[in-house]
Amino acid sequence: MSLPTIKRVLLKLSGEVLMGGQQFGIDPAFVAELAKEVKAAKDTGLEICLVIGGGNIFRGMAGAAQGMDRAQADYMGMLATVMNALAMQNALEQIGVQTRVQSAIEMDKVCEPVIRRRAERHLEKGRVVIFAAGVGAPYFTTDSGAALRAAEMKCDALLKGTSVDGVYDSDPKHNPDAVRFDAVTYDRVLADNLKVMDASAVALCRDNQIPIVVFSIREKGNLARVLAGEGVQTIVQDS
Ligand code: UDP
Repeated sequence: MSLPTIKRVLLKLSGEVLMGGQQFGIDPAFVAELAKEVKAAKDTGLEICLVIGGGNIFRGMAGAAQGMDRAQADYMGMLATVMNALAMQNALEQIGVQTRVQSAIEMDKVCEPVIRRRAERHLEKGRVVIFAAGVGAPYFTTDSGAALRAAEMKCDALLKGTSVDGVYDSDPKHNPDAVRFDAVTYDRVLADNLKVMDASAVALCRDNQIPIVVFSIREKGNLARVLAGEGVQTIVQDS
C-alpha cells in the first residue's frame, strides 16, 4: 500500500512528545526541534494543519480515575491542548513560520475560534494552522479532533506522530514479540481494537477515506522521511 500524493496534511502530535526527556509538561528545546521538522515539511510546499494533544499536561480519564467529574476533567484536558498549541506557535514563529491557532473553545485573547473558511485562507497564505481544544466537547480525544479537522479541511492524509513507530498486533511495551504492521485496514484496526487512535477517529477517517500514517516523531528527520514514503511507519487505509 502506498499513499496518494499529499498536498495538504494534518499532522497530529501526541502531547507527550512535547515533554522531550521530561516526565511532565513542555520542554521548549524539544518543541523547537519539532518546529524545525514542521518547517522543513512546509518548505517542501505542503499545506500543514496541526493538532496537538494534551496528555503531557492533563488527561480527562486520569482525572476521572481519581474521582473527578469526567466532563470537568475533559475540559481541563482541552485547555491543556491550547497551552501546547501556543507553545508550538511560539516555536514555529521564532523560526519564521507564520501560524494561526484556532481553538474549538473560544478564547479570543489568545487565539481565533475555529472557522473553516478562515483556516482555508490561512493555508492559502502559507500559514500553518494549529487547531486546539479537540472537537470542543468532553468524552472525545484530540485524535477525534484531528480526524474531524482532517475531514473538514480535506487533508490528503492524517499523520500521527507519536512515541511508537507504528501499529503493532499487541502492545510492544509489554510484549517483546509484538509485530508491527507496514499496512493495515481501518476495519482490522476497529475489529481487533488495535491501538492507533480511538474508534471514532478511525471510523471518521475510514468514512472519508483519509489514510492514517502512524510513525515516531521522536527520531530526528522522521517526518520528512515519512512524507517521502520512506522510513518506518504503519499506513492505515482500505486495501
Ligand atoms: N479532550 C476532550 N475533547 C476533545 C479533545 C480532548 O475532552 O475533543 C480532553 C480529554 O480529556 C483528553 C485531553 O483533552 O484526555 C487531552 O487530549 P488527548 O488525551 O487526546 O491528548 P494526547 O493523548 O494526544 O496527548
